[in-house]
Amino acid sequence: MSRGSPLQPQSFGPWELRERLGTGGFGNVTRWQNKETEEQIAIKQCRQELSAKNKERWSLEIQIMKRLDHENVVAAREVPEALQKLATNDLPLLAMEYCQGGDLRKYLNLLENCCGMREGGILILLRDISSALTYLHKKRIIHRDLKPENIVLQQGEKRLIHKIIDLGYAKELDQSSLCTSFVGTLQYLAPELLEQQKYTVTVDYWSFGTLVFECITGFRPFLPTWQPVPWHSKLKHKHDDDIVVYEDLSGEVHFSKHLPQPNNLNKFLVGKLEQWLQLMLRWSPQDRGKDGTERDKNHCFTQLDQILELKLVHVLNMITAETLTYPVQTGEGVSSLQQRIACDTGIPPANQELLLEAGLAMEGHNEAAQLGKTDHRQSNAINGDEC
Ligand code: ATP
Ligand code: MG
Repeated sequence: MSRGSPLQPQSFGPWELRERLGTGGFGNVTRWQNKETEEQIAIKQCRQELSAKNKERWSLEIQIMKRLDHENVVAAREVPEALQKLATNDLPLLAMEYCQGGDLRKYLNLLENCCGMREGGILILLRDISSALTYLHKKRIIHRDLKPENIVLQQGEKRLIHKIIDLGYAKELDQSSLCTSFVGTLQYLAPELLEQQKYTVTVDYWSFGTLVFECITGFRPFLPTWQPVPWHSKLKHKHDDDIVVYEDLSGEVHFSKHLPQPNNLNKFLVGKLEQWLQLMLRWSPQDRGKDGTERDKNHCFTQLDQILELKLVHVLNMITAETLTYPVQTGEGVSSLQQRIACDTGIPPANQELLLEAGLAMEGHNEAAQLGKTDHRQSNAINGDEC
């Protein structure tokens, strides 16, 4: 059953079936609307033929969901009385807030995202998913199946909000589940899960790094078309800092520590996120997410917070049409920024004219952070004579 397939009209009391949202290993998800209040909810129903072990996991998913309360984890709702009749077996239904933006896979499939998402969208995704994972890990919950299909989007008041769904699944992956329900999605699984080794929260780091790489470039980092066995034997030889492994047209395999072009990130962020991905995509589960020197268990999230907190100023050089990006400190003056621009462009501060996006000129004593934007697509301009 896939999204968009024809629907048989179905209703229970005021609740009407509106759409099939998806289907997977455990069951299917449908959208229901209350015709009196217009309220919408998503209902996840379990398939009949689950093994006893999987029935247990299903009940666990519902219990876990009900305990959670975070903006970036989909919220469980009470199943409306009238919809209780939907349950065709002894397994409970899971009711959730409905997220109208579809899942991240659908978003990545848009033509405009084929070479990677826009910078602003990537930064929001990083903030939302790192916040959700930090929350889950603090509660000692490991997601284990983080991938674009398991992130849904909801339009908030100011911006899109990403929410993690599908919890409590894939805890003990056995060989049969790897061969069946995981076909096609193995690319996000950490190697130790493929090897059926012991695992910890760092399996989610691997999946998060893999999906962020895909959001930046439009493709998955490591030999995306390869089958699991050759994939594993090739990948295990990657160096710690390699974040891309690809096959060229002649079949030769290359390893790289750098984010490939094209992507929509400014040069400064490319450097920072490359370093971060090098941590997230470490083969060794023990070293993943850590920088080797610090004792901070959550080093990769601390590092990411620092990247996300940076105030970036984009300056469009009107002479060369090149955009330069500078991180600025709170309190740093425009004159200090002008020195840095002088180093890069050869235009002495006295000859620089820094204009805000709306055309207003900046003075040396102004604060440089005033030039910072929340909308990452826009730039300030610099006009001047080189000497
Ligand atoms: P499992 O991996 O446990 O077998 P599943 O993959 O069948 O589960 P989910 O991942 O929970 O089930 O949901 C399947 C699809 O339904 C998602 O990829 C998403 O597109 C859609 N979906 C699920 N929950 C919601 C929701 N609350 N709002 C909007 N869409 C949703
Ligand atoms: Mg899913």
